[in-house]
Amino acid sequence: MKRTYAACESCGKLNAVPLDKAGTPVCGQCKKPLAVHGAIVEVTQGSLRKLIDGSKIPVVVDFWAPWCGPCQAFAPTFEAASVEFAGRAVFAKANTQAYPDVGQAHAVRGIPTLVAFFQSAELQRVSGALPPDQLKAWLVGLLD
Ligand SMILES: [Zn+2]
Repeated sequence: MKRTYAACESCGKLNAVPLDKAGTPVCGQCKKPLAVHGAIVEVTQGSLRKLIDGSKIPVVVDFWAPWCGPCQAFAPTFEAASVEFAGRAVFAKANTQAYPDVGQAHAVRGIPTLVAFFQSAELQRVSGALPPDQLKAWLVGLLD
C-alpha cells in the first residue's frame, strides 16, 4: 500500500496516510481532517518541521504562492509527479504567502523552489518551474 505522511495541524501527531483510500484522511489521534489532497500534503512551518523529522521517506516541498504565475504553471507538473512517485516521497506544498515563516525558515528566496529533505536534513534544492521531464530526472536522481 502506498503511503504518505502528514503532521496534524490540530494536535501535531505525525500520521502515515494510505493513498488508495477514498475520502479525506483524518488524524489518528484527534480525528480532525488532514490537509492531504490527492497525493499532496499542504504544510505550515510547524507541520513541515514534524514531517521532515518524522517521515520514513524523503519529503519534497514545493514552496509557492498564489500570486506567482510560474508557481501556478508548475502546479500540474508537481501534481503529476506526486502521483507517479507516490509512496517513494512525500510531496508537500508550502504556501509562502499564507505562511511566510515557512519560506524564511528554509531560506527560500525565489519561488517556485523545490527542496528535498530526508531524516531532518536538506538533501537538495532546485529553483524555477521545471518542465516535467526535468522534474522527473531530478526526482529519479534523488530517490533512486
Ligand atoms: Zn490530530
